[in-house]
Amino acid sequence: MVVGGGPAGVLLTYLLARGGAEVTLLESRQDFARRFRGDTLAPGVLEYLDTLGLARPLLAEVPHTRSDAFRWHTPTRTWTLVDYRGASRRFPFYALIPQAEFLPWLADRARAHGATVHMGARFSALRHDDEGRVSGVAYTVGAQRHVHDASLVVGADGRNSKVRTASGLAATELGASLDILWHALPRRPEDPSYSGLDLFGTPHGSVALLDQGTDWQLGWTIRAGSLPEVRARGVGALRDAAVGVLPWLEGRLDDLADVADLTLLPVRITTVERWTRPGLVLLGDAAHVISPVGGNGINLALADAADLANRLVGPLRRTPPDPRQLDAAAEGLETARRPAVEREQRAQVRTERAAAARTGRGDDGPPTALRVLSRVPGFPRFAGRRGRVEVPAPVDVIAVAAP
Ligand SMILES: Cc1cc2nc3c(=O)[nH]c(=O)nc-3n(C[C@H](O)[C@H](O)[C@H](O)COP(=O)(O)OP(=O)(O)OC[C@H]3O[C@@H](n4cnc5c(N)ncnc54)[C@H](O)[C@@H]3O)c2cc1C
Repeated sequence: MVVGGGPAGVLLTYLLARGGAEVTLLESRQDFARRFRGDTLAPGVLEYLDTLGLARPLLAEVPHTRSDAFRWHTPTRTWTLVDYRGASRRFPFYALIPQAEFLPWLADRARAHGATVHMGARFSALRHDDEGRVSGVAYTVGAQRHVHDASLVVGADGRNSKVRTASGLAATELGASLDILWHALPRRPEDPSYSGLDLFGTPHGSVALLDQGTDWQLGWTIRAGSLPEVRARGVGALRDAAVGVLPWLEGRLDDLADVADLTLLPVRITTVERWTRPGLVLLGDAAHVISPVGGNGINLALADAADLANRLVGPLRRTPPDPRQLDAAAEGLETARRPAVEREQRAQVRTERAAAARTGRGDDGPPTALRVLSRVPGFPRFAGRRGRVEVPAPVDVIAVAAP
């Protein structure tokens, strides 16, 4: 039983069903429509999807854009901080694919492999057996309450995970320094081209610009928790900041009447004391929230799902599944994945602090260390390779099945 139809939950459901295991997914929303989420599939993830025979149909069927570098711009110069072209021979780019397109595409394939996908089904409580092992869930569909027994419950219900809260596993904030205010505006044919993942430094923060094909996704970074001050200054200050670094936006943000028209992403970097309890495992953002710096929240969630599917598919195909094998698989996920997640989180805390300190000095360039390193020949490509999200190859029973 998988709770939560985000990237982690949908990929896990797909992989288990493809491997011949019985799996049910509960998603609280009626559909997969969502905006301003982690939409950036990394080169290592695309290679993994290619191993499954999915990457090429996905890129052929789902509208997307591609970015081969992350760049920082000021009015006087541009720094290429990360160059993804060395990160993969087959997919030397990040693919920007909205989750609203990616998730239904993958969920349809999970259904085709026999998975049950319940939309509009909201998890409400964990159920336990006489020995205290998690043995299923209670959930609601509208006003109706249902229960479902499960040999293992996977909490993939995101950063505010109800499954995690119900399990009593404590989450700790590691201290993010930034929040982001997102806005989308239609792209025009005469608009300039960028790398697709660009940051424009201002003396008081930065403006992110993501190329989403028909739309630009524009994001103002603000100091964590400073939304009330930003509101008090008014939306005009944000408009001016954006037009100051992107003059071609002049007149294009006039319909932005209020800060409330923007979507706030409170950036969080969160660690959870343990990812498992007997009969339960947490996955993706439910186990570890990371910052959008680096755009890897979705990629770590997908890598978690790939790893857990490899460990679970064998034990789940046995009738009945052996609880000890399932719990061992869940613990194996945490042992394997926690170090990579914590490495990424530590780097994010450092980068965010450096970026916040820069803003405090009224400096519009990247943090000093990045500025120096980006001038070292080959460093941006090295950074692209080093930051690669590695995904374990699928086990045979998953790999050999048809996509
Ligand atoms: C509002 C928001 C904005 C974000 N913006 C960005 C961004 O701009 N850039 C970036 O890189 N990353 C962003 N992220 C992070 C990125 O989207 C996540 O890292 C990634 O989606 C993690 O995938 P996941 O499957 O672990 O969790 P999620 O994508 O959060 O999926 C969790 C799923 O569980 C469902 N769910 C929740 N509660 C229940 C319940 N009780 N019962 C059943 N289902 C439930 C949710 O509807 C959702 O579909 C954002 C996340 C959020 C929540």
